[in-house]
Amino acid sequence: MADHWSVGSQMMGETIPKESNFVALDASEKDQWGVPLVHINVDYDENDAKMEQDFIEQYTDMFEKAGFIDIQAQTNTRAPGNDIHEMGGVRMGKDAKTSILNGWNQMHAVPNVFVTDGSCMTSVSTQNPSITFMAMSARAANYAIEQMKKGEL
Ligand SMILES: Cc1cc2nc3c(=O)[nH]c(=O)nc-3n(C[C@H](O)[C@H](O)[C@H](O)COP(=O)(O)OP(=O)(O)OC[C@H]3O[C@@H](n4cnc5c(N)ncnc54)[C@H](O)[C@@H]3O)c2cc1C
Repeated sequence: MADHWSVGSQMMGETIPKESNFVALDASEKDQWGVPLVHINVDYDENDAKMEQDFIEQYTDMFEKAGFIDIQAQTNTRAPGNDIHEMGGVRMGKDAKTSILNGWNQMHAVPNVFVTDGSCMTSVSTQNPSITFMAMSARAANYAIEQMKKGEL
């Protein structure tokens, strides 16, 4: 009996940052410590659906041309938050009106607070993100030390 073997593939696609995906503080509701509750509003859009469809079409085409048989394509779209590379919510920017952090991951409003985890980026494109967080943490720590040495922090 011929050996049966299979090959699989999955995609990493970028959800384009958009204003409809946001984190906001509740105007009135607070937790037991009096801290405003957080509203996280995030969803996938038509571009995400098209990207998934394109992946299936491209891979099916490649597998067919490579001589694969019995090609089975499926989608297993998970709700945002149940995936693995979610980002954003405390983004970096030059303007304190439209961003929380400056270019050093330092809060515009609270200079002795630095945010260097996944929330500081609105997207990692299709890359694995953790090593970038580590690099940004080292960079932000260096900057904070320089500022302290100058007595500016
Ligand atoms: C299955 C899986 C596979 C992955 N594979 C890779 C990979 O191969 N390469 C890669 O680069 N990335 C990978 N990632 C993504 C990577 O793990 C995340 O991007 C990264 O961990 C995000 O770092 P973070 O510091 O932003 O958040 P997290 O790592 O989620 O850290 C948040 C921390 O805050 C703590 N916390 C939450 N709420 C509170 C609170 N109220 N008070 C105090 N603490 C709190 C949590 O317990 C947690 O320890 C993978 C993720 C998953 C789920």
